[in-house]
Amino acid sequence: MKPDIRIGYGWDSHEFKAGIPLRIGGITLPFDKGLGGHSDGDVLLHAITDALLGAIAGPDIGTLFPPSDSQWAGADSAVFLREVLKRVGAAGYQVVNLDSTLILAAPKISPHAETLRQHVAELCGIDPDCVGIKAKTPEGMGTDNAAIAHATVLLKLTG
Ligand code: MG
Repeated sequence: MKPDIRIGYGWDSHEFKAGIPLRIGGITLPFDKGLGGHSDGDVLLHAITDALLGAIAGPDIGTLFPPSDSQWAGADSAVFLREVLKRVGAAGYQVVNLDSTLILAAPKISPHAETLRQHVAELCGIDPDCVGIKAKTPEGMGTDNAAIAHATVLLKLTG
């Protein structure tokens, strides 16, 4: 028998690079650097996608969408999230809520947190009240040139 509820956890990091757009949570934030990576480097959507995959004991994001596959070069990470949400539905589950923490030295996330919350909620098909977006600076971690994201999700059986 399938469990009524399942929890998932995901983590990701990407390095800042000059001259590319900064994509976080599916939106472009104003900043002079973006996050490098094979896709659009959206660290938050990658962590959420991996959390969803973890909750259904699926393969991880890098296995499903390998960087070696040229079709994912520069890809909008919302594509990964949508595909994985389909897998969650096919497994018989729906998202209850998700929580996340971003760790980056700059830019400040607080002015954009509400927009991020609304957009991530829309992408996941849940109410903004069910999306947590928190941000911290990497005090003492020496990761000022990277953005890190942690995410947890709760799923429940559909129907
Ligand atoms: Mg990533």
